[in-house]
Amino acid sequence: MYRCGGEPIGETGSVYDDDLSALAETPAEEIVCVDCGGPCHLITPAREDGQWYVGDIVAYRCRDCRDRWDIELPPIDTDLAND
Ligand SMILES: [Zn+2]
Repeated sequence: MYRCGGEPIGETGSVYDDDLSALAETPAEEIVCVDCGGPCHLITPAREDGQWYVGDIVAYRCRDCRDRWDIELPPIDTDLAND
């Protein structure tokens, strides 16, 4: 997660060079603001086909403090499906 302006927030250093064309999970419509705990709504529209890909940057805008949060979509975590 990155604050607008590029200041890294939380976990960094994840690179998925080999998965840039891989499908990602659909981003949540709403997340919780890291700064104030308010609701941040997704402001990035989906593609026409409704697909999301790993490495896509989606932006959220906080309703309360108006901060913007940019999130790079991670790959679908297939490890959880292992039985
Ligand atoms: Zn906020």
